[in-house]
Amino acid sequence: MGVEKDFSFGKLHSEAFSCIQCGYCRRVCPVYRALGWESTSPRNKVYQLQNLLSTYPPLANLPEEFSQRFWQCTNCRRCTQVCPTHLDLMNLWQGVKHHLGKKGYEPASLRSTRERVKRNKNIFSLANENRSFWAMPLQGYPKVLKPENPDIAVFVGCVASFYPLVSGIPLALANVFLKAGVKAYFLGADEHCCGNPLTTAGDLATAEILAENNISKVRELGVDKLVFICPSCQSTWLEEYPRYNKGQLPFRLLHYTEYLADLVDQGGLDLKPYPRRVSYHDSCDLGRHLGIYEAPRRILRAIPELEFVELANHHQDSLCCGAGGNLYMVDQKLANKISQPRLDQIEESGIDTLVTACAECRQVFTLGLQDRKSPVRVLDIAELVAELIREG
Ligand code: SF4
Ligand code: SF4
Repeated sequence: MGVEKDFSFGKLHSEAFSCIQCGYCRRVCPVYRALGWESTSPRNKVYQLQNLLSTYPPLANLPEEFSQRFWQCTNCRRCTQVCPTHLDLMNLWQGVKHHLGKKGYEPASLRSTRERVKRNKNIFSLANENRSFWAMPLQGYPKVLKPENPDIAVFVGCVASFYPLVSGIPLALANVFLKAGVKAYFLGADEHCCGNPLTTAGDLATAEILAENNISKVRELGVDKLVFICPSCQSTWLEEYPRYNKGQLPFRLLHYTEYLADLVDQGGLDLKPYPRRVSYHDSCDLGRHLGIYEAPRRILRAIPELEFVELANHHQDSLCCGAGGNLYMVDQKLANKISQPRLDQIEESGIDTLVTACAECRQVFTLGLQDRKSPVRVLDIAELVAELIREG
């Protein structure tokens, strides 16, 4: 099966030379806003690329600082969103990282993550057979995770499967499905990393092996819907997997908030009141990548007595939490610095509860607000719904 994404120097060269150096991307880039050095701005990176792709061979003799700048990116898509020449910056960044990785110019932390993914099928040094340990408190575990003739399959993702701070999210969702009478099949050990840390770094060949496993395991179930907890996994499936599958996948890809919002509309979720002031953070992957803005808000609007307020930046203008694009593993200090303006907005909004729909955002904001000794409670929507759902 071929990997036909165009990372050719010719394609990257023509993209880089479409730039008119307007600087719109510079104003919105969270990395540039956090560091303030011209070398970190997307505009400058494109300018430098124009020179480096014009040499022969292209990208020869890279200054170390220059290659480092490409890994300092959260994949937030803000630059692409504002570019007036519609430059495919995400493909440009991915393509450059593909070539940098092949030349050995990649951060050590990312190289070891890639090795772990190849060896363990997840981003951690943990056995993949333990992928459903989060479900141990569930009555009837592990059988209850594998119903016969399931309505849907659920793809949890590495972070929520293994990281204790956020493993309450799949547990909450499993409880909601059980109470709502939805037969949800959690893939568990059959699920391998979606490949996002590899595709973001331009390593498509290794990602293909993971994708083949995941597609075949879902296909075997015969379901027509695959529901995701992690928006990064979903966007990887949406953007990368059809290529590996040689065509459209034979099932729909949905974020769990879309599935729950439909259940709400059909009267399938009976929710208790939550008389608090609540806001929702649009994650980069669920919002700008997947265009899912209304489903989480539809769920929140259905909760009696909940007072919903928007944060200062929301929908497509939402601010990045700092953890995306592998940045949390490459440069945690920078990721934390990027999260500060959003943490300021959360504190200034006067809310009691911040709701997220991405495990990485949930983790970053929980730790960031704890550091600030803030009283704001952080919950994933699945956790909030699990807390409020009445027995069916
Ligand atoms: S994707 Fe985001 S972090 Fe990366 S260059 Fe674009 S605006 Fe900056
Ligand atoms: S917004 Fe687009 S055209 Fe303008 S500097 Fe950035 S990459 Fe170049």
